[in-house]
Amino acid sequence: MDNLTYDIVIIGGGATGLGSAVDAASRGYKTLLIEQHDFGKGTSSRSTKLVHGGVRYLAQGNIKLVREALAERGRLLKNAPLMTSTQPFVVPVFSLWEKIYYSAGLMLYDVLSGKLSLGKTRLLSRKKTLELLPNINPKKVAGGILYYDGQFNDAELCIELANTAERYGATVLNYTKAVGFIKENGVIVAVELEDTLWAAVGAGSEAAAGGAAEAAIAAASQPKRRTVACKSVINATGVFTDAVLQMDDPQADTLVYPSQGIHLVVSPQFFRGGNAMMIPKTDDGRVLFAVPWQGKVVIGTTDSHVDHIDLEPLPLAEEIHFVLEHFNRYTNTAITKDDVLSVFVGLRPLVRSANAGSNITSLLSRDHTLVVSPSRMVTITGGKWTTYRKMAEDAVNNAVFTAKLDGAEAGRTRDAKKCITKNLPIGDLGAARELAAQLTLDEPLLGDYLDHEFAAFHHITYAIRVVDVVVAARCKYVRTVEDFLARRSRLLFLDARAAIYLAPGVAKILQKELNWSNEQRDAQIESFIQLANQYIIH
Ligand SMILES: Cc1cc2nc3c(=O)[nH]c(=O)nc-3n(C[C@H](O)[C@H](O)[C@H](O)COP(=O)(O)OP(=O)(O)OC[C@H]3O[C@@H](n4cnc5c(N)ncnc54)[C@H](O)[C@@H]3O)c2cc1C
Repeated sequence: MDNLTYDIVIIGGGATGLGSAVDAASRGYKTLLIEQHDFGKGTSSRSTKLVHGGVRYLAQGNIKLVREALAERGRLLKNAPLMTSTQPFVVPVFSLWEKIYYSAGLMLYDVLSGKLSLGKTRLLSRKKTLELLPNINPKKVAGGILYYDGQFNDAELCIELANTAERYGATVLNYTKAVGFIKENGVIVAVELEDTLWAAVGAGSEAAAGGAAEAAIAAASQPKRRTVACKSVINATGVFTDAVLQMDDPQADTLVYPSQGIHLVVSPQFFRGGNAMMIPKTDDGRVLFAVPWQGKVVIGTTDSHVDHIDLEPLPLAEEIHFVLEHFNRYTNTAITKDDVLSVFVGLRPLVRSANAGSNITSLLSRDHTLVVSPSRMVTITGGKWTTYRKMAEDAVNNAVFTAKLDGAEAGRTRDAKKCITKNLPIGDLGAARELAAQLTLDEPLLGDYLDHEFAAFHHITYAIRVVDVVVAARCKYVRTVEDFLARRSRLLFLDARAAIYLAPGVAKILQKELNWSNEQRDAQIESFIQLANQYIIH
């Protein structure tokens, strides 16, 4: 057992866990956060990338939920201005009734945001609607409504939260899994941890033909275990919540009802103009978004209940069909599977409510849920990215109260205080920026690590530089090729084929940075290519 006793151990390195680490550390508690894979590997890198109040929950009359989320939207845009932006949305309408109904709702949406409004909702003529959405199918369009929401890079914000938590003294570890609890009188006093790095890479290359790479990884993947003492535990594991609850108490009730959502990413040639489109109710009652993001367009999403929980969920054929079919119906394009650059899939940790007997997951609670177990573990789940800060505040308040951390015995690093995150700036990439500035002059482009023909194309299209990979390895917790290509550069989500091409170049740079053997480098490439193939529709 390590000598140190943590005030709070947080399990899960997505939005909720990382937000809790920032909250706990900035209050002065000795904090450890562990993530079984990379930060943001779960749902938190697979969102629609919107910082929003949830317009559609207004239709369900849930004004309190929307108002709270809008306040959080405003705070996030203020506290993380470099990582967030304002995105104009156009809702096309097809009748006078729709115009009245949606404009009333969207005006209320803006009013509810109060001083944190991102811009006034406006009614649009048919002509203006067609101008703002150049690719809309003009048939039957009667006009539109313009409103504003926030947008962000979800995986980047995870890294910035990890960085901020560290700045306040937290220890944050990726590739470290909670595998057991040690209890005294029924109360958790320590957490058993397992190092998962090479097991994760090895598992990814399971299907690859045997060989040296696999053997090297098998040898390196013997998990290392250790135990850390703690006064309280926060379970912030998203769709894995029930597994951790049952690790604590095998008889624990299940909480989470996972709902899958997919996104298709296409070139902006199919959706020009820089404005996002929102169809609040397609003919089968779902919401359809087409949102410009990082030079591409993200189209989604779906809401399908799934029984199987996986870190890499797969899209269902009917989900792909739904998104393609509806996008084509509302636009003047005819995209096919071949036009899709990447498909990414996320699992919403919706919370079962007592009367949620049906399979219609859109009726389940979108608010967050907090449970305190007899072992004193605090479980927090549900909610959404936009409300991560409030969820973290609630989780830490409960951990402090349950474990009496504000008492005389707490191992505080400074005087424990109330939550300070409402106005806390997020991100401390000063060190990353400095390092990038030092390295830039001498570093060749990543393409120089690849053959020239390919390099010429990708310099222009994606402009990933060697310096980006080096800085990510030294300052942004990168441990694998996937970490860089999926969640630091986002290339896997933007263009999976391009990510496959760049994998060998990235691996060569990381080999040097992270002291890999040739076998380890090759296993990383194999594992990544196998994964990236799941982001391509074959
Ligand atoms: C399709 C889709 C679109 C969405 N779009 C939006 C949006 O636009 N805006 C918005 O605000 N919200 C959106 N959401 C909701 C939002 O993404 C989620 O609510 C949020 O990311 C959940 O974060 P989390 O930290 O609770 O879970 P996760 O991000 O899943 O994090 C949990 C982490 O726990 C780790 N873990 C599990 N078990 C262990 C263990 N034993 N030891 C260590 N680590 C463990 C996992 O590896 C995982 O990384 C969307 C969700 C989906 C599915």
